Amino acid sequence: MKKRAKRAPKGMAVRKTDKQRPHVINAESKGLRVNAIECPKCADVIYSRARHDYRACKCGEVAIDGGFDYIKVAFKNKPPKEMEVWVSVSIKDLYQDWNAGTDKYGRVIPERGDVVSPK
Ligand SMILES: [Zn+2]
Repeated sequence: MKKRAKRAPKGMAVRKTDKQRPHVINAESKGLRVNAIECPKCADVIYSRARHDYRACKCGEVAIDGGFDYIKVAFKNKPPKEMEVWVSVSIKDLYQDWNAGTDKYGRVIPERGDVVSPK
């Protein structure tokens, strides 16, 4: 079953980057580079897991969309800080997580250990 794309609510500014920033598998083949944003208000670090995964932070100030195809950032007041984060999951895992609604990923939780440092 395919999920429908969510969109940014009215009143949010949207900034889209068309240039694709491809993910990179690191030398150990266990790292995936994702384009994440940090909310200036609640400090959530979030990323989009699939093309139609519209991911908002917990306070609803910022959101990111586009998965690995493009980057669409939405924000209410202040644009979020964009950053690259390496996570130890595969694109397939992320897609399934989003598609099945498991929602284990999409938010960076350093204490959980799914964030790896690039070597
Ligand atoms: Zn927030």
